[in-house]
Order: sequence, then structure tokens, then C-alpha cells
Amino acid sequence: MTDPIAPLTSKDIHNAKSTGNDDAIVAKMRSLIKALKIHNHAYYVLDNPRMEDSEYDQLRRSLLELEEQYPDLVQPDSPINQVGDMPLSAFTQVTHDIPMLSLGNVFDYDELHGFMRRVNDRLNDAQKNPEYEMELKLDGLAVSLKYAYGKFMQAVTRGDGQTGEDITQNAKTIHNLPKWLPTASDIELLEVRGEVLIPKAGFERLNRLTEEKGDKTFANPRNAAAGSLRQLDPCVADNRPLAFYAYSVNQGLSEHIKTQSAALEWLKFLEFEISTVEVVQNPREAQDYYEYMVETRNDLPFEIDGMVIKVNSLALQQQLGFLSREPRWATAYKFPAETVMTRLHAIEWQVGRTGAITPVGKLQPVKVGGVTVSNVTLHNFGEIQRLDVRAGDMVSVHRAGDVIPKVTRVWHEQRPADSEPVQLPSTCPVCDSPVVLPEDEALARCTGGLFCPAQQQEALIHFVSRRAMDIDGLGASWLVSFFEHGLVKTVADIYQLHKHQEELITLEKLGEKSVQNILSAIEASKHTTLASFIYALGIRGVGETTAQNLAQQFGDLDSLMAADIDKLLQTPDVGAITAELAYKFFRAPHNIEVITALREAGVHWKKVEQVASEGLPLDGQTWVITGALDSMARDEAKAKLQALGAKVSGSISAKTTALLAGGKAGSKMAKAEKLGVKVVGEEEFLVLVGE
Ligand code: NAD
Repeated sequence: MTDPIAPLTSKDIHNAKSTGNDDAIVAKMRSLIKALKIHNHAYYVLDNPRMEDSEYDQLRRSLLELEEQYPDLVQPDSPINQVGDMPLSAFTQVTHDIPMLSLGNVFDYDELHGFMRRVNDRLNDAQKNPEYEMELKLDGLAVSLKYAYGKFMQAVTRGDGQTGEDITQNAKTIHNLPKWLPTASDIELLEVRGEVLIPKAGFERLNRLTEEKGDKTFANPRNAAAGSLRQLDPCVADNRPLAFYAYSVNQGLSEHIKTQSAALEWLKFLEFEISTVEVVQNPREAQDYYEYMVETRNDLPFEIDGMVIKVNSLALQQQLGFLSREPRWATAYKFPAETVMTRLHAIEWQVGRTGAITPVGKLQPVKVGGVTVSNVTLHNFGEIQRLDVRAGDMVSVHRAGDVIPKVTRVWHEQRPADSEPVQLPSTCPVCDSPVVLPEDEALARCTGGLFCPAQQQEALIHFVSRRAMDIDGLGASWLVSFFEHGLVKTVADIYQLHKHQEELITLEKLGEKSVQNILSAIEASKHTTLASFIYALGIRGVGETTAQNLAQQFGDLDSLMAADIDKLLQTPDVGAITAELAYKFFRAPHNIEVITALREAGVHWKKVEQVASEGLPLDGQTWVITGALDSMARDEAKAKLQALGAKVSGSISAKTTALLAGGKAGSKMAKAEKLGVKVVGEEEFLVLVGE
């Protein structure tokens, strides 16, 4: 029985605090333990994690905090002090001579200080503030290698720290792992430890090949390396781009080597690959080097997830010893996570300035790569289908350096039961016009054109440009300003600006004279050509040449507007996509309204002189131009060909008569050769056009 007059100890007080709701705390601990066990097995044994590391680290931290707060309730099977997991029985199991432990970790400068303070607390005054050595924390799989008299004998994984798997046969396939160390031939037993990893480029290649074969891709290089190394068939490992980086000598080191940095130098001399090494004297220097590596980590050929900081003196390392699962003389200084999990609440569709409809993922805000991210682009409908992502899914978001965040993985197994597949909207979310997704194109587009507010500014700028309506003096910045002041909305409003003369004059920096100049330029632009007008409308896929061809083909605007897709397709240079976009453009009521308003405002053009090509030398021929011509611009060459009755198209097909090829001709040349289309050089062309 407790002595009733003895003073209370802090432990008594703590115990009192944890009574009452112990059941709830134990239940919480049990559920965290259960989750951690499942995830440890998936990660360490199956090499197939079921959540991102950042998420796992949070779970682990929650359990650790509970255990620190309620030490009396710590569960006997808590995995907190466990290293890795039990190895798979498929490989021969090997007990390590010296346990292979994990590392503690710190996440910021204060925690780094805390680590160094704990080191100092265990050292005498003369030893305090020791020198540290910093290495990259390679994100792979720890392996112990044994060499007898210089000959490679055995490779064993870390396993649960005490026992690992014998993966010698697979390790032999690692190209940069030395199989014979001539300068260590007098050492009876040498044990070198290091990390097996797959460099980024090799990982991308591997995943591409895996995807092509229809197999499941690897979540990250670490899992790919672990999975490859633990393949039962060494031929598989042989085909994987594995690499070994050494980071410690655990048996057989000469007594003359006194520091970790010198041990790494020696490993290098033995022809092991090692990563960078930096010796630092104090926390500030360590922090500077850490920050430098945060900045430059993405330039490295392999992934690292932090730095490892180690007391440099091997004698001090020995003196400091180990805690249950980690050394006291080293810790991992982790980088901010670059891949995190979060929930995708919704998928919204945005309309770009060119009418492209792009899906944007709305995220539960999350810190990734050091910044908070709440939106992520999903690029296009095809990407949504490729990822098989839905609103409500848990997703992994990756952001490295300044790279735009992206969804790298969808955790389908965590999908809510009531989620619905994503549909491409049938109408524009801004203007309600129909949306089209042309075959062979990735991006869906709004057909609202001139009417769609999301596209209006772009449409206005295009409309006044030199090759369109050529409204000299009405530059993009003024247009945007008029748009923002509500003076113009559609291109037709440009021809009503004279009604707002007073308002224009009061706009900042725009005097009476400039307004007059602008209005005169607008007036002058009313007299144009049909080709310029068609081009000015900004129909997707209708560039200057196509506009000219359409003007030639139809002769007047009404015929063009009335044309069906078949008729449009008869126009040189107009393919299925452009024909569909043009057809839809002229069916949208708002576009018709704008065109009517423009004509009513006085925009007009002279009659198109349709060139009769009959009887001309190149009548009935279709030419394509590629590469750079020495004697003239391509536009000029095109005009010359057209003058001789040829149609000039932008793409090669079996129907093409000839390809005019200038210097540096690329893919078109190859295609012409493949299709057996005649290739005409510049000299031959000059003779043909009489120059
Ligand atoms: P750790 O990877 O954080 O640190 C220890 C390891 O660092 C060592 O075993 C060694 O292999 C490695 N290392 C790399 N470079 C080194 C160097 N220069 N010097 C010394 N060691 C170096 O600890 P851990 O226990 O191996 O694994 C924990 C990690 O695994 C965490 O990042 C955790 O998120 C992840 N994990 C994830 C899941 C999941 O479900 N996603 C499950 C379990 C563990």
C-alpha cells in the first residue's frame, strides 16, 4: 500500500492524469498499432506501400506522442522501436553479426539543435561540440556486403535489424557493386554497408516498360529497388538499373582510420561508389549545408529524402552507442515531403483564353515541398481517365522544386463507395456554349468563341492584330483596359467605341488626341478583305492560310457560314478537326450575333476574285512546303505555287503531289519518303516558277 504521508512524485501525478480515460487511450494506441503493422508489412515485406511516407510518418508520430505522454500504457507489441519488418521466408535468412538499425530523425533547426544537445549531454567537457559529418540520405534499401580476402561473398538486406535475407545472387547483378577488391585482399572479413537504389532516369524507363507490358508500375524508386533486389529470379534484377552506394564500414576497418569521413575516403579508394560528404563544425554549418541540399536535391541523379548527420569521430560513435532502434551518434535530417496524400474534393472545369477546357482538382489544402497547395491541374479529360480519378478520392500530390504540383497517384483502394466517374461537361461552364473534344486532340474546347467571356480578351487582341483587322493604334494594353472598364465585351463593341468618346478621354493617360487616333484607326479598319475578316474571327484551327483558302473556296461569307462539314472539307488545308470547329463556330447563335453586329457597324470587304485554276500548270496538284528556303520566305513560295494553280496544304498525305523541301526538313520529309510522295528541292522549284 502507498504510504499516505509520502510526497507525490511526478510519476504519481502523471499516472493520476492517465487514469479515467485509459481505455480510450489504449484503444487509440491499438488502432494505430494495427495500422502501422499493416503498413510496415506492405512497405518492408511486400515492397508495395499502401500510403505515402509522409502519411505513414504522421501515424507513427501519433503513436510515439501517445507513448511519450502515457508511458505506462505502452503496448508490449508496439512497433515504435522496431526496425523494418520480418523478412520473407523465400530467401535464406541470415543473422547480422552487428544489428542493422534505423535512424532517428529531425525535421527543423530546433530539432537538430536538440539532437546535438543530447549528444553533448553524454560527452565530457573536452569532447563536447564534436565535429559532424553529413551525407545524403539515399532513398533506397539498406544492404550489408561481406568480402573475404577481397572477394565478394554475401549480400544481406536489413530485414528486421537482427535478421535479413540473403540476396547475394541478385546483388551480383548490380553493375557498380565491386565483386573483387584487390587492395583489400589481405583483410579476412570486411563488412561494408550501404544503400541499393534505382536512379531517377532508370526508374522512369523501368516504369515506362512496366506500363507498356501492362504490369503495375512502381510507386517510387525506393520500392522499385527493393522489389527488384528481392526478386527470386536474379535475371529480373539483372534487367533493373540498380546501383550501390556505400556509407559505412562495419567490420574490417583499419585502426588507423579514425573518422567516418576518412572511412568513406577509404571506401572510395577501394572503388566503391559513395555519395557526397561534408564535414561541419557546428549546427549553423550543418543547417547551411542542409539548406543547400534542399535547393539542389532535384539536380541529383537519384532520390534522397534528407541528410544523415553523424558524429565524425569513430571513437566517439563507439562511446555514444545505441538506443533501441537507432544510434545516438547519428540522425536523419529529413527534407520537407515532396509527395503527400490529401483528398481531392472536387473537379472543376476552367476555360482558358483560347477556349481550352481544363480540369482543376480542388484539394484539401496540404503542405507539399514546403508550400501549401489547394489546387492542382489535371491537364485534360484523357489524364482524368488515365489516372482514373474521381471527386472524393485520396490522391498523392507531388511538388519538387518550382515544378507545378501534380497528382501522381490515386489511392483507388480508399475510394468512397458513392463516388461517380467524371464526365466531360457538355457545355462551357462560363458561357454555356457546347463543348467539343475533337478526335485526336487532348483538349476539349468551348465553341463559344467570340461570345465566351473567358475567351473575349484573347479574341479582342487577336481581332485587332495586324494580319487580322489591323487596327493600328489600338494595342493590347488599351484593349484590356477598355475590357476591364466594361467598354468592350465582344469584338463588335470595338465599332461602338465612338459612342463612349467622353469616357475614353477620361481614362488615365489617354488624351483627346489619342482617342481620336484610335477611333480613326477603327473606322479605317472597316474596309478589309474577306480572308482577313475570317482570320480575325479567331476560329480554332483557322490560321491565315486556311482563312485565305476558305475565302477563295466560298467567295462570300454567307456561303461559308452555311457550308456543311463536307463542303468545308473540300477546302485545301481544312481537315476534319478544323471543319468541325468551323462548322460549330458558325452554328453558335452568339457568334452569329457578333458577326451580324460587325456587318451592321459597317465592316465590309471587296468581292473575292476567285482565281480560276483551270488551265494553270499546277491545277489539281497539292503541295506541301517544309524546311527553310534560301531564296525566299515560305509564304512567298506558297503564293507562287498558288499562282500556278496548286493548292498548298500544311500536312502530307498520300494525296499530296509534291513536297517542296528546304534546309533542315524534318518529319515531313520522312513522311513523304514513307508515302512515296515526290520531294522537290529549292533549285528545281525555282526553275518551275520561272526564277
Ligand atoms: P529511414 O529510412 O528513415 O532511415 C534509416 C535508413 O536510412 C537506414 O536503414 C539506411 O538504409 C538509410 N540511409 C540512407 N542513406 C544513409 C546514409 N548516408 N547513412 C546511413 N543510413 C542511410 O528509416 P527506416 O526505418 O528504414 O524507414 C522508415 C521510412 O520508411 C520512413 O521514411 C517511412 O515513411 C517509410 N515507411 C513508409 C511506409 C508506408 O506505408 N509508406 C511504411 C513503413 C515505413
